[in-house]
Amino acid sequence: MTKTDWIQQEIDSLKSQGLYNNIRTIASPQGAWLTVDGKKVLNFCSNNYLGLANHPAVVEASRKASAEMGVGPGAVRSIAGTMSLHIELEKRLAQFKGVESAVTFQSGFTANLATIPALVNKEDVIFSDKLNHASIIDGCRLSGAKIIAYEHNDVKSLEEQIQANLKNFRRALIVTDGVFSMDGDIAPLPDIYEVAKKYEILLMVDDAHGEGVLGKGGRGIVDHFGLHGKVDIEVGTMSKAFGVMGGIVAGKSVITEWLRQRGRPFLFSSAMTVPDAAACLAAVDLLEDSTQLVDRLWDNAKYFKAEMKTLGFNTGVSETPITPVMLGEAPLAQQFSRELYEAGVFAMALGYPTVPQGKARIRVMISAAHAKDDLDQGLEAFKKVGKKLGVVG
Ligand SMILES: *Cc1c(COP(=O)(O)O)cnc(C)c1O
Repeated sequence: MTKTDWIQQEIDSLKSQGLYNNIRTIASPQGAWLTVDGKKVLNFCSNNYLGLANHPAVVEASRKASAEMGVGPGAVRSIAGTMSLHIELEKRLAQFKGVESAVTFQSGFTANLATIPALVNKEDVIFSDKLNHASIIDGCRLSGAKIIAYEHNDVKSLEEQIQANLKNFRRALIVTDGVFSMDGDIAPLPDIYEVAKKYEILLMVDDAHGEGVLGKGGRGIVDHFGLHGKVDIEVGTMSKAFGVMGGIVAGKSVITEWLRQRGRPFLFSSAMTVPDAAACLAAVDLLEDSTQLVDRLWDNAKYFKAEMKTLGFNTGVSETPITPVMLGEAPLAQQFSRELYEAGVFAMALGYPTVPQGKARIRVMISAAHAKDDLDQGLEAFKKVGKKLGVVG
């Protein structure tokens, strides 16, 4: 026996359960088509909702910025790493989202790790949706606050938990994903807001999959529901629809000012790089100029979902371009994904613990980068594999 034998045993066990992550290598830019392990395949996997990851204006902006300003920020932001580009990006993001102020982080993940522990600690309580993203869960754990999970998207359950527990704590925070990434359903934010208001609790939404997708021209879930000025903290990412990398927190100035003082990933990890910040600025420009990409994303998503339903697939409860194809057991989902890949379609199988046991699926991510022909080819592959594996008739 060696000290690492248990790890090998765990890995072998994942493999035998069909739960092992087979990570593919991409040799092309992100877009509708990818070269994956040497093979050209239709891309149904990435969060590049608007096709901005390889958009000429975005690429050019990052090239130009690095030629003028270099690449790295050189230090954490509070020491010598805040560049004029970061400040400009934050101003533009705040304008775009219609909030007082915004602050950027290295990623959406670190934005959550920064924000939650800065707002609550061991004297406090967090009411958290049961299906919240891992980075929210980790942020909650780091804060040391009592975490009370309420039933998914269930405002009645949220209010019951508040009534039973709020009195035992100093302060509270309600936190929810805006769009839930595995099912594509949307949090009932107007109702959650009413509860937050009634009990005077801080309200935070993580809009990673809503940024650039929901609301007018992709302004996010708060805009989608017309809740401007009512949600205290909007977390977002620039790694999905924006096509780059980086996290955002948007809201009142007092919140962003506090995060610059007490957000640990802000204080102890270097900022977004120069090319990333410039690329994000170009992405904001594109979104402000036109709603064309966001409109195309939604047209594509509606078309694909409707056709999948006609073919007899169960696409779950999605209200967004995230299209889960529900298959049940993980080995079936993995086999489906392998067969799709053979048929030229790259779509990942998701199993436990990413989704609950028995709810394995293929998750199709629709993008504005897809042409109608691409979607039709994808549908044809789903039909062929679905029939072969007895999923549809
Ligand atoms: C993807 C995602 C994140 C992480 O974003 P990154 O910028 O990739 O770190 C955080 N929260 C939610 C809800 C997400 O879906």
